[in-house]
Amino acid sequence: MALAVTHVLIAVILASIYRDHIAKHTFSHFYILLAAFAGLLPDLDYPAKLLLPQYFWHGQFHIIYVPVLFLIATILLYAFKTHRKYYLSAGILTFGYLLHFMLDCAGGGYEYLQPISVMNYCPLLITARYWPAIDASLLMLWLVYEYYGHHIKQFF
Ligand SMILES: [Zn+2]
Repeated sequence: MALAVTHVLIAVILASIYRDHIAKHTFSHFYILLAAFAGLLPDLDYPAKLLLPQYFWHGQFHIIYVPVLFLIATILLYAFKTHRKYYLSAGILTFGYLLHFMLDCAGGGYEYLQPISVMNYCPLLITARYWPAIDASLLMLWLVYEYYGHHIKQFF
């Protein structure tokens, strides 16, 4: 499975590219933060398991029904002409959740269709030994991109 930094950074990078090259300033920085949160949201069971081990287990939130509910919420919020921030937020939660599933799927995945099916339909494309290197490489590339692309030189 992909590690936390990869989940967060892939979501942040894709949302940043969308903001920088397509949506521009109509897509606030808050949505990039929300995408980062959504990209890691299915792994919320890790800290929950530490706090309440009798109620949570790893993989518990890796079920397809959660992003489907987010998608339905997005469509309903859009259809009922709510403020843009509501359906956009729900859409970003859908995006981040599905992105998390795709990354985990590349690492072997879970039984996303439980309890309907206990089959794991994911191919093991990237084994566990490569994820730390992917984490480190993505972090360095993102820092370089932010350094030159968004002028965060004052931070360094
Ligand atoms: Zn996961």
